Amino acid sequence: MSLIVQKFGGTSVADPERMRAVADQIGRTLRRGNQVVVVISAMGKETDDLLRLAADVSTTRPGREMDMLITAGERKAMALLSMALHDIGVRATSFTGSQAGFITDSSHTNAKILEVRPERVREALEAGEVPVVGGSQGVSTDLNVTFLGRGGSDTTAVALAHALHAEVCELYTDVSGVFTTDPRIVDRARKIDHISFDELLEMTASGCPKPAMRSVEYARTHGVDLHVRSAFTWETGTLVTKEDPDMEDAIISAVTHDTDEAKVRFAGVPDHPGIAGRLFRALASEGINVDMIVQNTSEDGHTDITFTVPHSEASLADETCRQLIGELGAKDVSVDEQIASVSVIGAGMKSNPGVAAKVFETLAANDINIEMISTSAIRISCVVREEQVDQAVQALHEAFGLHAGA
Ligand code: ADP
Ligand code: ASP
Ligand code: MG
Repeated sequence: MSLIVQKFGGTSVADPERMRAVADQIGRTLRRGNQVVVVISAMGKETDDLLRLAADVSTTRPGREMDMLITAGERKAMALLSMALHDIGVRATSFTGSQAGFITDSSHTNAKILEVRPERVREALEAGEVPVVGGSQGVSTDLNVTFLGRGGSDTTAVALAHALHAEVCELYTDVSGVFTTDPRIVDRARKIDHISFDELLEMTASGCPKPAMRSVEYARTHGVDLHVRSAFTWETGTLVTKEDPDMEDAIISAVTHDTDEAKVRFAGVPDHPGIAGRLFRALASEGINVDMIVQNTSEDGHTDITFTVPHSEASLADETCRQLIGELGAKDVSVDEQIASVSVIGAGMKSNPGVAAKVFETLAANDINIEMISTSAIRISCVVREEQVDQAVQALHEAFGLHAGA
């Protein structure tokens, strides 16, 4: 008998019919002799609706009340799924994040898990019930309801799988697994059968929306095997483990892109020790997430520092830089929102020279100018004009032989 954590949310549970389909899948998993713990997130676009409602009602939106509001989406879903399970003869008990033992810090709207003490979940399992846990929520050390942030239910599922020593954590979604690139951009994208944590982490960090990046980090740190799969066709999806046995075959596993980026250029800064430290400390103090950073070689003792940030943080980054112009003796700050990044990811590039050359040649052959470049051991990312990013994704996916049937 295996213990399996199954996570469902969004489109997978968008309406009563979907709720019943999910209940049936849980029933099938039980009949195969497994124990199941379910994690559920809000139905359809309910979280977006609640956020919009809050914005319509309030300008201040205190964090404590936002978390109380948003977690109501998961609370509604977990009760309804438990009812659907009862209807097919499965005894199910719903638990809020707090009841399931998720202790978090008190940073409302984006709380971090401090500890998971799933006693009540264990008791329910021992009593032969299916625990249905509300995702992306917990209780803070000062006893307030907290929300773990957008996409936090994936993290709830992985953390619960780890705490309960589950065999696998199944993350159900509206596509049949992790694809070699965004199937909405390349119709010949292929489902990946097996991928390593490291590669999936690079994918989610460079724009792949599923699974949530934090959950992949958690799974990698704690060695929780994942299975990303479809809640519509129920077919076998993508296995995510420490090692990828197919790693030898393909040099590149995936192409990702991110359009939620803006480029900030801090121009004409003196080339002295301490300038970059002062700049990025100021940005960090504002909570700004800097991604790529490029510093030009200096000319006449001056240099440019260019970096990317999420769109939502661009104006704060602009303001923060402007306040430092005088202190640092810089010339100017400019922000460009019309950029996007495209990345190729693959553990095989470590032992295969020429990947970078091929990326740059492919973009050049398509008349796509590269504005910034950054690399890790298993990723090469380029910033390009936003209107050319789809073309860049298509060209690289084809050039590296990732097209289905290629
Ligand atoms: P949406 O909210 O638009 O449904 P999500 O954030 O839920 O998007 O992400 C799921 C979607 O991500 C899938 O439906 C799929 O189209 C898209 N996607 C993008 N890149 C990939 C990828 N490499 N593998 C799988 N799905 C991907
Ligand atoms: N419902 C929340 C969201 O939309 C949490 C989740 O889906 O993981 O972000
Ligand atoms: Mg979706």
